[in-house]
Amino acid sequence: MAEVNDQHEYFVHVVASRYRSCVTVASPAAVAAVAALLRGRTWAALTGAGISTDSGIPDYRGPTSVRATPMQYSEFVGSLDAQRRYWARSYLGWHRISNAQPNAGHRVLADLELAGLAGVITQNVDGLHSAAGSRHVINLHGDIASVVCLECGERSARSELQRRLAKVNQPLDESLVLEHPELRPDGDAVARDWQHFQLVGCAYCAGRLKPDVVFFGESVPKWRVEEAYAFVERADVLLVLGSSLAVMSGLRFVRHQVKRQQPVVIINRGPTRGDELASLKIDGGCSETLAELRATLLA
Ligand SMILES: [Zn+2]
Repeated sequence: MAEVNDQHEYFVHVVASRYRSCVTVASPAAVAAVAALLRGRTWAALTGAGISTDSGIPDYRGPTSVRATPMQYSEFVGSLDAQRRYWARSYLGWHRISNAQPNAGHRVLADLELAGLAGVITQNVDGLHSAAGSRHVINLHGDIASVVCLECGERSARSELQRRLAKVNQPLDESLVLEHPELRPDGDAVARDWQHFQLVGCAYCAGRLKPDVVFFGESVPKWRVEEAYAFVERADVLLVLGSSLAVMSGLRFVRHQVKRQQPVVIINRGPTRGDELASLKIDGGCSETLAELRATLLA
């Protein structure tokens, strides 16, 4: 017990020394150090694909991820064939994505609003934080359950589009089970026969439809970025969960927090681009580490 306490003191000391990166495995002492940093403070969470892997949504960049080349924004808007390919894959993958359930990590974060968590900024488009009951969520990269018209800007439900697509395309083979390598976080599953896929247009103006998510090569809307910065600035501590911070859209919030001389804690399996900037980094899974954190903070 004394040893655990000694370790605890050690980690609290490390956490207090800002800009000194410390990578550690998930241990009771490490979780206690994070809890000590969060207790009595306001904090924000920045989440990535790693928090949704336990819900069956694969990670693009985690240690177990399958390498996949995501469709670029310019490719999507510039070619009807690309749209056909995207929507054919999405049509097949929608069942899996729309049925994904929040996991323990999402639920713990919803509970932690009672322990100073001001809100969640997520790079995920799966809607699982809101489904788990988190009240303050910024969907940085949009929402896969929504569709936007590229011509008139009208937004509509992805589930409604699925019904319209089903009317003009082959019925789905219910026995088809898409495994991880065939399904990507944006619901873009592999489809072999996409050339014959029939697209449908906007129900209002017949314009081209795009999932209401930020594609690679597309900018996050400025107002949404500003909203996220405001979130971070209201927080004393930024907790990064399940993100390798590979893209600037997430890393910039870590840099901003460090510039404000406020601590950043990272919980992620594998290295991240923010490790050097973190006050404390736990190399471990989100669900189990968050469950321990809840037990400590809400004890
Ligand atoms: Zn339209």
